[in-house]
This record gives sequence, C-alpha cells and structure tokens, in this order.
Amino acid sequence: MRDDQRSKIYDWEWSVIPHWDQTKVPYKDAQEIVNLIWHEEGFKYPPKIMALRPNATATGAQAIREGSKLIIQIKRKWRTRAFILIHEIAHHMLEKSTGADTEAIHGPKFMGIYMKLLRKYLSIPLIHLMVRAHQNGIRYNLRAKPTVGRLERARDRKKAA
Ligand SMILES: [Zn+2]
Repeated sequence: MRDDQRSKIYDWEWSVIPHWDQTKVPYKDAQEIVNLIWHEEGFKYPPKIMALRPNATATGAQAIREGSKLIIQIKRKWRTRAFILIHEIAHHMLEKSTGADTEAIHGPKFMGIYMKLLRKYLSIPLIHLMVRAHQNGIRYNLRAKPTVGRLERARDRKKAA
C-alpha cells in the first residue's frame, strides 16, 4: 500500500498546528504525557518513550513496534512538539499486525484519529483542521476508531495464561 498522504500530512501539520499550539515537550516529560493521553483514551499499555539516535531521521520522531511492545522514539536532546508526540500516539492507536488493515500508514483512519486527538488535547477547532485538510487534498475518516485494544487484550490473555 503506497503511503501517498505522508508528505501532505507533514506539510499540513506544520502549516496549521503551530498557529494554535506551540508546546514543546522536554524528553523527561514526554513519557508522562503519553501515559496520560493513552489512559484517558481508555487503554492500558502506553507506548514507551525511547531515545532516537541523534542522526536518525529528519522528522525527529518515530513510532515502532517490538512484538506487542509499542515504542515512540524521540530525540533526547530536543524538546519535541506536542503535536508530534500526538502524531506518533495516533499511529500506535491503529493496530497493524493482523494484515486486516489494508490502509496506508498515513491513510484516512490515521488522519481521523489524529485530528480528534489534536482537538481534544491541544484544543484546535476540528472545523479548522478539516478545512485545511480539504485544501491540502488530505483524506480523513472522523469515524475511525482506535484498534489497539485488540493488541492489548491479546497481551492480557498471554499474561493470564
Ligand atoms: Zn507518521
């Protein structure tokens, strides 16, 4: 599946979100924020914050998985934009391991979940996010629901066994 919205979304988030929110999170505070959002959304096992190699990527953050363990890598020396943390959280809320989800990683479901988190945690009006997404030719699905609960329940069953 071609990830054809990826660069459009990068442009969109940097052109829209900083008008509403300038929050930069120090490395030492990132885990607490991830935990708070994860639990508030009704999930149990928050992604773990780990340090990204200083020369790793241009974007400065990455969502990865090791088995059922969710990881968000950010740069230890940087303060990471709050919206970038939320972007990576939104990736982890869509569980991809089953192959049932054929959508691109930055597809409409990801975008819908991301936009709703931006509204809730950074107080950015959804209507503004929607209009600007249309202008940038980005598809989104606001009815998309996180699927990571499946992964968490599998982890619970493993523990109980
Ligand atoms: Zn992404």
